[in-house]
Amino acid sequence: MATIEHVLGDITEQDTDAIVNAANSSLLGGGGVDGAIHRKGGPEILDACRKLRAGHHGGGLKTGQAVATTAGRLKATWVIHTVGPVWSATEDRSQLLADCHHNALKVAKDLGARSIAFPAISTGIYRWPVEDAARIARAATENADIELIRFVLFDEKTLAAYRP
Ligand code: ADP
Repeated sequence: MATIEHVLGDITEQDTDAIVNAANSSLLGGGGVDGAIHRKGGPEILDACRKLRAGHHGGGLKTGQAVATTAGRLKATWVIHTVGPVWSATEDRSQLLADCHHNALKVAKDLGARSIAFPAISTGIYRWPVEDAARIARAATENADIELIRFVLFDEKTLAAYRP
């Protein structure tokens, strides 16, 4: 069983083995967490993403899937990119948000990572209601086979929602 932490902070500052990027399907950068990771991690991460696009992930990354690259200049060793679902009031996409967490954890395990930091996937530009995203993230990580999971939340409201 993993130790689960909840902290207020910046995902790019984390010293966990892996950090999770709330990426978009292009894998070529964006706003929010994605922008911050590429800005601080440097061009090596984007180069690795471009190589993925040129190879195995020619069509980009599907929603709910996860893939790892170097973390460039960041403290972490790996960035695990996952694409959260865009919130929909008419369609239940909860399973895709759970998949992001499950698949990121699986990639981490395959890499041999012992610790991983997650942002509040889908709650920014993708508009998922924070309380609901927190519930899904909690359920999807509760039996994970890794030493440490750290949720890194960017503001007090999100921290309060994610903290049990
Ligand atoms: P998405 O497109 O999946 O919604 P965003 O990156 O827009 O992803 O936002 C996801 C969450 O991450 C939001 O709660 C946002 O406030 C938060 N966030 C933005 N920048 C950072 C950062 N540097 N570290 C941690 N969380 C961040």
